This record gives sequence, structure tokens and C-alpha cells, in this order.
Amino acid sequence: MAHAPTLQDRFGRTIQYLRVSVTDRCDLRCAYCIPEHFKGFEEPDHWLTASEMERLVGVFARLGVSRFRLTGGEPLTRKDLPGLAGRLAALPGVEDLSLSTNATRLAVHARALKDAGVSRLNVSLDSLRPERMAAITGRDCLDDVLAGLMAAKDEGFAPIKLNMVAMAGVNDDEIDGMVAFCIEHGFVLRLIETMPMGETGRGAGFLDLQPVKARLRDRFGLVDGVLPGGGPARYMKSPDGGFSIGFITPLSQHFCDTCNRVRLSVDGVLYLCLGQDESFDFKPLLRGGASDDDLASAIRAAIELKPQRHEFREAPEKVVRIMAKTGG
Ligand code: SAM
Repeated sequence: MAHAPTLQDRFGRTIQYLRVSVTDRCDLRCAYCIPEHFKGFEEPDHWLTASEMERLVGVFARLGVSRFRLTGGEPLTRKDLPGLAGRLAALPGVEDLSLSTNATRLAVHARALKDAGVSRLNVSLDSLRPERMAAITGRDCLDDVLAGLMAAKDEGFAPIKLNMVAMAGVNDDEIDGMVAFCIEHGFVLRLIETMPMGETGRGAGFLDLQPVKARLRDRFGLVDGVLPGGGPARYMKSPDGGFSIGFITPLSQHFCDTCNRVRLSVDGVLYLCLGQDESFDFKPLLRGGASDDDLASAIRAAIELKPQRHEFREAPEKVVRIMAKTGG
């Protein structure tokens, strides 16, 4: 029997996961992400079309990549995102299609996303206090986000993971409140350390999550756990398994050895690492008549460029790209 195809990098890591940024624009201006008066967004002419994304995702899937996440910027600001999701979910080899969103527009789109075949949702939520949420995101948006979350819950999305970027002196006093909120609603909480991506990422009150993890373990009697998703979070759960919390700790305990992912930006550039510059531009191939076999060869060549690890700690000034550019 023929072996299933796999994509392996120079360090023996199997690449199974592609994050697809469908836009670099966002309706929020989170303090650690897009600068307030940012002018560097991609021209719409440079955005991959839905058909170009579909084609490239199809070739990745042919090469053994089975998990895909739509992200951005804010993916729900892209026109007909559920339509695109439906096209991608239907491709042979796409086993799991998920979405990262800030949920400001999720109440409107939750049902269409579910119908389109989006299986899992990650929602960013850094505070449950309206004024604080407005201060972090630049917009009074908490009610919209909560409405989006509840709509997603009503549609039966499970698990819904809540991503909270934990920042010293900004929202670290809300971590326990967020745990209680997630227990109440059946959401999985994931705490994230700020990454030094761009000036905004570097200026955002980095909080080492190791002491937080130890404290929460004691307070809630948590034990080690695992959740499906294949991502970088290390999970703990309540003894009855009813609640899970993940820790994404790129700085205090990096996870590069098991990195299984690459990221496609909206303009067709594949970034091999969040924290490094290695990249491969697929747009000239897509717009220059390349065959699917040409694309497959290019993907294999691009994966060879994947660096061993980021250097967020050793060289925090290195990454000039903000997260919304790479596709968070
Ligand atoms: N708009 C979508 C969302 O809110 O999930 C998808 C894109 S957003 C860039 C993806 C995630 O990246 C969010 O959870 C956001 O909080 C996180 N993020 C952005 N900049 C970050 C940084 N410098 N450090 C850590 N997380 C960051």
C-alpha cells in the first residue's frame, strides 16, 4: 500500500498544519498587535483571491497537510468568508478547518460558518470589563464579542477556545475571573504570552506564565491534560475533566521542537516561522501559470527553509512584522 504523503522539514518535523490569513486588516487595534495609525496594509490587488487560496490549500492537502485555520487580521472582515470556508472544507484531504476571530461579527456569521464546515473556533478575549476591553482593543466592543461567543455556543461549536493575551499590569488581575467565565460556559481558556512582534508586541507588558500556571494548578487542583488541535498549548484540566486551560508560552517555555505549522499571508507569502524572516512568495507562481505539480514542488522547497526555532528571547528586536501581517 502506498504511504500517505508527508511534508517534513530539515529537522524531521512533519508539517500538518497551515494557517491561512484571509486579510491583514482588522476592525480592532489591539495594543500588542496593529499600531493605532498603521498604514502598511496590503493592497487588495495583492490579496490572493478565494480561488487562488482554494488552489493552494488543495495542493497543501495533497501533500499531507490536513489541518487548516483561517485567520488574519480579522477573517470575518473579508467578504463572504463562510463561502470561502465552505470551498476549503470540501477539498479532499482537508480534515479540519478552524477559524480564529475576535468575534465582533461572529453573531451574524456563526450559523453560516457552521454550515460551511468550520469545525472549531478560537476567539480572542482579553478582558471581561467593557472599559478595559475598549482600552486594549481601541473599540467599545465587549458586548459584540460576547454576543458572538454566545451565538457560536448556541450553534454547537465545540470546543470554543478563548485566547487571552495575558499582560502584566493590564489584565493579569482578570485571569481567575476568566477561568470562572470559561468554566461557566464550557469554553477552553488559553493564556498567551505576548510575543515581541513589531514595536506593539514588544511594548505590551510581557507576563511570564510559568508562575501563573503553578498558582492555577494549586488553586483549582489541575492535572496535566491534552486537547486535540495539534497546537503549541500545554494543557491542564480539572480532575473531573470538565475544564481545560492551555498555556501558550513561546518565551518562558518555547515549543519549536514540535512546531508542525506554517503560515500563508493574504498576499500569498508563506512564512515558515512567526519569529523569523524565512518566507516563500507563491503569488508569482499562482499568477504566472504554474501547474499544481509546480506548486507542490515549490511547497516542498519552501518547507526546507523552515528555521529550527524563533529567537524571541535572544533577539526580540528582530521581528518587524506584526502578527496581523503574518497571520496569527
Ligand atoms: N482577529 C483574529 C483573532 O482575534 O483571533 C485572528 C488574528 S489575531 C492576530 C490572532 C491572535 O494573535 C489573537 O489571539 C491575538 O490576541 C494574538 N496576538 C496578536 N499579536 C500578538 C502578540 N504580539 N503576542 C501574542 N499574541 C498576539
